Amino acid sequence: MTQSDKGAQAQYQQALDDGRFLIQKCAGCARAVFYPRMICPHCGGGELAWTSPSGRGTVYSTTTVRRKPEAGGDYNVALVDLAEGVRLMSRVEGVAPRDVRIGMPVRARVIQQDGHGLVVFTAEDETQ
Ligand SMILES: [Zn+2]
Repeated sequence: MTQSDKGAQAQYQQALDDGRFLIQKCAGCARAVFYPRMICPHCGGGELAWTSPSGRGTVYSTTTVRRKPEAGGDYNVALVDLAEGVRLMSRVEGVAPRDVRIGMPVRARVIQQDGHGLVVFTAEDETQ
């Protein structure tokens, strides 16, 4: 990671802390870029603009992490593919960890945890 990539990641975190989920989009190849960086990993272009993703995604993989009830109980770790074509690690809330399924449609939201913004997902109603 270069020093300037850290700058991009700091901007990403600052937006989350303000309650906004932003990803980058490359002006050169029009592809979405995540995790935030200075140079497009697809085409090597350096013009990356911040953009608000739709928030819609699909669970790519899911793991239940076991934890004692007194520590908060089991929780879910998921890789989610956003509609924009990037993948991020997060968790799905609002359903039991073992009920999170690969292919499940989910929607992103920003929560504040320990003083910092964080992207989590909730299950999307599949009938809509
Ligand atoms: Zn590009």
